[in-house]
Amino acid sequence: MSQTINKVAVIGAGTMGAGIAGQVANAGVEVWLLDLASEDENVNAVAERGLERLHNPDSPGLMSKEAESRIHIGNIRDDFDQLADCDWIAEAVVERLDIKQDLYRRIEAITNDQTIVTSNTSTIPISLLTEGMSAAFCERFAITHFFNPVRFMRLLELVRGEQTRQEVMDTLDAFCEQRLGKGVVVCADTPGFLGNRVGVFAIQCALHEAVKLGLSPAEADAIFGRPMGIPKTGVFGLYDLIGIDLMADVAKSLETILPASDAFHQYAQPLDLMTTMIANGQTGNKGGKGFYRDTDNGREVLALATNEYQSLQRLQLPLALQAEAEGVGVLLQDQGKYGQFAWRVLSSTLNYAAHLLPEVGHNIVPIDDAMKLGYNWIYGPFELLDQIGVDYFISRMQSEGRTPAPFLLQAQGQSFYSTTTGQLASLEYQSGYTKIERTEGVLRFSELRQTLTPINSNAKASWWVFNNAAIVEFHSKANALDDLSMTILMDALQQAKVMGLDGVVVHNDAQHFSCGVNLVAFRELFEASDWAGMDKFLHDFQQTVLAMRQSDLPVVAACAGMSIGGGFEVVLHADKVICHGNSVMGLVESGVGVVPGGGGCKETLYRWFEKTGDMEKAAWKAFMNLGYGRTATSPIEATDQAMIRADDSYLMNRDRILSSALGQLKDVAKTPAREPLAMVGQPVFAAMQEWLTNAHSKGILTPHECTVGTEMARIVTGGDIAPGTIMSEQDLFNAERDSFLRLAKTPETQERIVTMLDLGSPLRN
Ligand code: NAD
Repeated sequence: MSQTINKVAVIGAGTMGAGIAGQVANAGVEVWLLDLASEDENVNAVAERGLERLHNPDSPGLMSKEAESRIHIGNIRDDFDQLADCDWIAEAVVERLDIKQDLYRRIEAITNDQTIVTSNTSTIPISLLTEGMSAAFCERFAITHFFNPVRFMRLLELVRGEQTRQEVMDTLDAFCEQRLGKGVVVCADTPGFLGNRVGVFAIQCALHEAVKLGLSPAEADAIFGRPMGIPKTGVFGLYDLIGIDLMADVAKSLETILPASDAFHQYAQPLDLMTTMIANGQTGNKGGKGFYRDTDNGREVLALATNEYQSLQRLQLPLALQAEAEGVGVLLQDQGKYGQFAWRVLSSTLNYAAHLLPEVGHNIVPIDDAMKLGYNWIYGPFELLDQIGVDYFISRMQSEGRTPAPFLLQAQGQSFYSTTTGQLASLEYQSGYTKIERTEGVLRFSELRQTLTPINSNAKASWWVFNNAAIVEFHSKANALDDLSMTILMDALQQAKVMGLDGVVVHNDAQHFSCGVNLVAFRELFEASDWAGMDKFLHDFQQTVLAMRQSDLPVVAACAGMSIGGGFEVVLHADKVICHGNSVMGLVESGVGVVPGGGGCKETLYRWFEKTGDMEKAAWKAFMNLGYGRTATSPIEATDQAMIRADDSYLMNRDRILSSALGQLKDVAKTPAREPLAMVGQPVFAAMQEWLTNAHSKGILTPHECTVGTEMARIVTGGDIAPGTIMSEQDLFNAERDSFLRLAKTPETQERIVTMLDLGSPLRN
């Protein structure tokens, strides 16, 4: 049984409180955001500043203006009575026990026994938080530990007190999972819970071992990063991202709450250099410099021995590249300092994680989930151990005179995860395998896939059958699409009908659905001047996305993360889109000096025409969106920008989109074939060119951007043709290919693509 949550209050409008309020509002629920009353003229100044932070364009906390209207700003002096009829009060004030307890006493005095109260504390045990409070209050109290930034970090650690009612846990679990979209991990009330306990250990361990081995920050991040399935910020980059001062405080607070016997203490200290850095204002990204800094001359990295910045050369360690492609085991075969570093960090961190059982529970899944959802690791510690092989791990530790955790010894000769029964199961502490049960409606393809055999597969994509549906999965780096990816999609579209399936779902649960067409393939083609090859690639891509529409079966795109460029062109041709609430979508091709050549220009024009009913308006809208490479950072924005349709849908929890797509597949209606369009032709084409010339004369656009813009204008108007000239869908496809090739032959576009590939950054030439 769980209660309904219709009104929420968040107390403390700092980093976390504002973020929580934002996400509650995104979920469609009214929320009061209270902070201290300000002495200024504006009594709510502090809470207002919290709300303003949600507008950060790099990490927008709000999905729409409508969401913002659900947030009511106030202060704890004048608006405390608003709490009386709240269903949930989330406390997110500073980490001070006295301040938190004082608030709880005030809250208890005005709320009834149904109001749920939670704290966002990172370090204070629940028994201390509720010390001296009535039993009735303790029954409705829990910890909801969100991660920053709240909208984007998937993990929510839910901690129950000894007296917390089951109904309170169920209510918080259901609301946070379904409405706020979090991966809820129920944790014991142990120090640092799960995510920070393992995550901070890993970071501190990597930091110290890198220094001991004399690795530069860039070298350490190249190893403790993507090759391990860890975000590319690695360790030093992550320190910069979080803030060197804040991260040092987090490590310090964990040090104070962990018992003296805990292995964390050997790594808890900050580097000596960090004290100087903090004093110098080298606090990381927020201070403009940390272990890295961006200057007019490019990116620089700190030399740890001298505290001086040096130019950062793009580091492409062959070992790291090989491990990224072949798995983490490759790192451990290396005899050099990089292999040493990888082994030291992995062996200590994974052994530490294994040591946490049974203190934090008997089940490994919450630990792996916490690292995947809270630290964006692709694999949790026990999944990494399976990749390495627990027997190898144990024997290497023992050969160094180190003692593996008892749980590792229990797992000897086995793996932590098994599918031998046809279902995914995990090894329990002092027990056998237990089937992994997810809440109804939650289905992760990365788990499901382990129990299935692909019908067809290559290095870039695979397709599978589940519940009488074809599931197409892209699985290349960043899910960049090339002819191999499209071959699999086409095969699934063709075979699904023959096999009598209900439809096709294009889905993966990588971080990003697809970051576009593989630019490496284009580079090879233009470097070989293989224009026929490029035209063929585009033609095949177009025919594959067209086949999605022309298939007799419904095709659903179930996407999360970024669907941009060619990835978004796939989405645009599905009959229905079921996406995640944090999806980022758009056609960003102008950034690399080309036009969308896989039906993106065509669809943008059609969709604006559907939305406005006016071809001239549609042409201008398409021209502007394509020219600026606009992206939408939520499905609500994407609907406003005609990127998805009103009957497409989104879910707050990305773990629910696949199950939802499969459940609806049979009922999805086919999108009708595209009717030919009466193009606006020459006058609007000329007006757009004039607009480009003006923008250039004002210094807004570079000459090449005008060239790219002209090609976009040519496609969406039809170019130098009489107004009213009819163009078919295929004519528009052809126009895209013509423009694409014209641009790909220019040195400026080629320079843009090469810069993006070699330096990872866009070039405006
Ligand atoms: P913060 O310093 O950004 O914000 C704290 C806010 O609380 C400030 O706006 C302050 O004015 C307000 N405040 C202080 N006393 C108050 C009172 N009596 N009534 C109302 N408001 C009051 O802190 P934060 O980073 O948002 O952390 C808040 C809580 O969340 C802490 O318990 C922290 O441990 C926890 N936490 C933080 C993070 C993180 O990454 N920052 C992550 C998880 C949990």
